[in-house]
Amino acid sequence: MAKIFCIANQKGGVGKTTTTVNLAAGLAQLGQRVLMIDLDPQGNATMGSGVDKRSLALSVYDVLLESASIAEARTRSDKLVAAGCSYDILGANRELAGAEVEMVELERRERRLKTALAEVDQDYDFVLIDCPPSLSMLTLNGLCCADGVVVPMQCEYFALEGLTDLVNTIKQVKANLNDDLRIIGLLRVMFDPRITLQQQVSEQLTAHFGDKVFDTVIPRNVRLAEAPSYGLPGVAFDPASKGAQAFVAFAGEMLRRLPKMG
Ligand code: ADP
Ligand code: MG
Repeated sequence: MAKIFCIANQKGGVGKTTTTVNLAAGLAQLGQRVLMIDLDPQGNATMGSGVDKRSLALSVYDVLLESASIAEARTRSDKLVAAGCSYDILGANRELAGAEVEMVELERRERRLKTALAEVDQDYDFVLIDCPPSLSMLTLNGLCCADGVVVPMQCEYFALEGLTDLVNTIKQVKANLNDDLRIIGLLRVMFDPRITLQQQVSEQLTAHFGDKVFDTVIPRNVRLAEAPSYGLPGVAFDPASKGAQAFVAFAGEMLRRLPKMG
C-alpha cells in the first residue's frame, strides 16, 4: 500500500510546492514509485514538474468531479524521465478553483480523492499531495485520504503561531474524517544558519516537537528557486546544488523513518 502524505501549511510561500516536487523527485531517484497530486489551482507543482497546466487534457478537477479516473488523468514529464527521477503527475490548473463550488452539493464530497486513489494505490510506494494555502474543500480532500502531513516551515517568529492553527486543524480532521491522520514531521526549509533568529526558532521547534522535527534541514538555495522556470524540481535541475542534495537526503530520511510510522 502506498504511503499518502499531504504537504500542508496554511501559510502561502512557505515552501510547500518546492518540498512536494523535490521530495517526489528525490524518492523517485531512490527507486520509489511516486504519484504527485497537485491540489492547488495555481498549478505550480504541475508546471514545476514539467507539465504545462494550460494543455492538460484531464486534471485532478476531473477526478474530483468523477468524470475521469486517476489512471486516465495522470501524466508523465519527458524532462523528468530524461533526468532519471520520474514520477507520475496528477496535474491542476485554474479550473480546479471552480471545483470547490461545484462540489458543495455533492455527496461525500470530502472523500472524492480518497475513493479515486484507492483504485491506483497499488501502483505506488508514495503519493505526495501539494495542498493550497487554505483549509478548503480541496485541502480537506487531501487530508481525508492521507496517512499523515508533512509540514514545511520557515524558522521565523510567527511560524510557531501558525503551527498551532495547523495542529488544531489536523486534530479536527482526525476526529471527524480520518482517524489515521497525524503529523509525520516538520521540515525546516529556506534555512539560513547565519540568522540568529532562525537558529533560535529551530531550537524551540526541536525542544517542543522532539523527533517530529526532521533531521534534514533544507537550506535557502537559489537553484531551488530557479528550477521551476525550467519545469524541473531542483533535484533534477542541478543535482550538485546544496538544495538538491538536501532534498535527496530528506527523501532518504523519509525512507528510514517509514518502518517507525507503522
Ligand atoms: P508554497 O507552495 O508554500 O506557496 P513555494 O514552494 O512555492 O511555497 O515557495 C515559495 C517561493 O520560495 C518560491 O519562489 C520558491 O522557489 C522559493 N523557495 C522555496 N524553497 C526555497 C529554498 N529552500 N531556497 C530558496 N528559495 C526557495
Ligand atoms: Mg504552492
